[in-house]
Formats: sequence, C-alpha cells, structure tokens
Amino acid sequence: MAPTIVLAGAGHAHLLLLYEEMKSPVRAAEYVLISPNRYQYYSGMYAGYIEGVYEKDETRVDVAALCSAAGIRFIEAAVTSVDAKQKQVHTSTEAVSYDKLSLNLGAASGGVPGIKANARSIKPSYLLPKTAEQLDQAGSIIIAGGGAAGVETALALKAKDAERKSSRDVTILTSSTLLPEAPAAAQKKIRRELSAKGVLYREHTPVTNVASGRVDTPVAVFSADEVLWLAGAGAPAVIAASGLADKRGFLPVTKHLQYQGDPDIFGAGDCVTFLSVPSLAKNGVYAIRQAPILRENLKRSLAGKNLQPFQPQRQYMAILSLGGRRAFMFRGRHHARGRLVWQLKDRIDRKFMDQLHKAAKPGS
Ligand SMILES: Cc1cc2nc3c(=O)[nH]c(=O)nc-3n(C[C@H](O)[C@H](O)[C@H](O)COP(=O)(O)OP(=O)(O)OC[C@H]3O[C@@H](n4cnc5c(N)ncnc54)[C@H](O)[C@@H]3O)c2cc1C
Repeated sequence: MAPTIVLAGAGHAHLLLLYEEMKSPVRAAEYVLISPNRYQYYSGMYAGYIEGVYEKDETRVDVAALCSAAGIRFIEAAVTSVDAKQKQVHTSTEAVSYDKLSLNLGAASGGVPGIKANARSIKPSYLLPKTAEQLDQAGSIIIAGGGAAGVETALALKAKDAERKSSRDVTILTSSTLLPEAPAAAQKKIRRELSAKGVLYREHTPVTNVASGRVDTPVAVFSADEVLWLAGAGAPAVIAASGLADKRGFLPVTKHLQYQGDPDIFGAGDCVTFLSVPSLAKNGVYAIRQAPILRENLKRSLAGKNLQPFQPQRQYMAILSLGGRRAFMFRGRHHARGRLVWQLKDRIDRKFMDQLHKAAKPGS
C-alpha cells in the first residue's frame, strides 16, 4: 500500500504542492488534504475583494474541486489535534492516520483579550466574504494593525466609499509605525496617502483589549461600530494543543521545513517558526516559495533521502493596493506607486489564481 501524506490546511504551500503533484505522472504517496472550508481565498486579492474590484469566484480556489481533479481525498473539517505518537490527525469529524504530515494552517488572530468575541477577522480566509459584508454595514471601523494588511484594507474601504458615494470613519491603530518593514520614505508616502483618503491613524498605539464596539489602548479608548483585527500573525491553537509548539505557539521547523521534534512532521507558511531565521516575515510570498521544497522533502523523507534546505531571499517585493486601481510597491529602499504598479500586481495575482482555477476545472 502507498504511504499516506496528510496535508493539514489549504494554505499557499499546500495548494501549490497539489498543483505540482497533479502534473506528476507517478505519485510516491496517497495525499489527504484537510481544511475547514472547501474555499480558500487568496490574500493578494483580499483588499480588491473588499473594495469590489474582484468577484468572489476570482478571489477563491475551490479546494474540494482541486482535490477531486487531482484524485486526492479532501476532508472538509478542522484539525483539532495531532497525535504524533500514534501518527494520527484528529479532526472535527474523523481521525486520519499518516506516514508524513505537513501543517500549513496559516495564522490566527489572538494575543489580546476580547478579540474572538468582539473583533472581525479575515483568518481563516473563508471568513472574508462575511467580514466584508459586515464592514459594508458599519458606519465606523477601527482596524487594529498598521502593517500591509491594515493599510490595504483601510484604503480599500475608502475606495469603495468613493465609488458608492458614502463615507465610513476608518481608523488604524498600530503598535509601532505604519508599515514597519518599509523604508522611512515609503512610510511617509503611505501616511500621506492615508490622510488624503481620510483614513485616521495612530502609530505607537497598541490595542490592549477589545470590547463590544470599543477598544482600549494605553493612551485612549476608541469606539467604532466594527473592529477588524489585522494586527500580526498569532499561532493556531491546535499546534500547542498537540504539544508541538515553541514558546510563541508556532511549529518550530528546521531549514528543511521539518519539525524539530519529529522527522515525520513538516510545516510551512505562517504557522511555523523557521528556526534558521526566526524573524522571517509571515506572508504569502514565503509560503509560496516554500511549496517546492516542502513537496520535495516530504517525498525525500519517505524515500529516506537527504533533504533540501529552504533558503529565503533576504528582500522581497511587496505590492500593496491603494484602492482605485492604484498600488504601491517597495523592495529594500526602493519604492514606486500608481496605476502601472496596480496593473503589475493585478497581473501577478490573476496569473497565480488562473493556474489554480484551471487545475480545479480541467477542460474549462
Ligand atoms: C487583509 C490581508 C491582506 C494580505 N495581503 C497579502 C499580500 O498581498 N501578500 C502577501 O504575501 N501576504 C498578504 N497577507 C498575509 C497572508 O494572508 C498570509 O501571510 C498568508 O495567507 C499565509 O499563508 P499560509 O499558506 O501560511 O496560510 P493561509 O493562506 O492563511 O491558509 C491557512 C489554511 O489553513 C486552514 N486552517 C486553519 N485552521 C485549520 C485547522 N485547524 N485545521 C485545518 N485547516 C485549518 C485555513 O482554512 C486555510 O485553508 C495579507 C493578510 C491580510 C489579513
């Protein structure tokens, strides 16, 4: 009988792994993919979806259809725990045995009291349509988090307002500066962009508690109809619940994307701590780049071969939508913005999604 590789989570790395596996004439293993929803929304298009630039079907991959086209079993359920001793994954519906397991579970919102009960989230990604709908009905919105996700989302909300001739109060509260990973000159441009669009922002203002329609910070209490939590990537609870977590709750993986404590467990994307570079940014770019190494190493480890290292690039190009089909990009100290940048982003994002859409609907 062929060995079983269980893929937990339909994150970027697992979707691309499946996509490549579909092209392979011979499979070294049976794959099982487990994810709580048949749809996976692509983060590069979240802001465009919130703004109304992209339709739902353009923004998401039908994971169940992709698995069916690949001849792979899909279980629509959340992983509730991993029993590494028994080599079993427990889900909300059944237990699944594995020879090799890979976790690509993304990040969770967390770390501050009241988030779960009182804040909206886009994680897991299938929450996107409902969250966007709720934000559409609000008159005032606080976004906790001034990284790329918070900035893009604030500008998307304002661009939608301009389109439908309405106006929501949008405020970003962030613990450090806006876009902390960007050079100072780029941050300055983003501050100007936000002000020009009527987005209020408070830097060095961490949210310490979320209550219904209200957030607390060390400097003041802020009120709004809705609070959207986009402040950093927290660890999915299932990793700690399974006894696999590091101090911060993430799965610690070696340069081979292999869990430090068990050679049969691998991981990629936001849910891991990459031990060679523990501060590695948590974003879709790295999750995508990890896919080929993850796929190769799962197969090599089944065959008892040497594993390949994942070597993250030091710098990557970040492109943020500014709303109104304009975008801003930066890489290292360089930055640019405008319609051409948006066209570039749109092309990259559509290309990424087109390959998965076509794979999920063979013959279309
Ligand atoms: C508004 C916004 C905009 C962003 N824009 C960008 C961008 O333009 N570019 C970029 O690179 N990054 C962007 N990011 C960050 C990006 O979303 C994440 O870094 C990226 O999605 C991480 O990918 P991943 O593969 O680790 O996991 P994800 O893409 O988050 O996927 C995780 C998967 O695991 C599943 N899952 C979760 N819990 C369980 C469970 N218990 N059992 C089984 N399955 C589970 C989920 O349903 C999902 O299928 C943005 C984030 C936000 C919030």
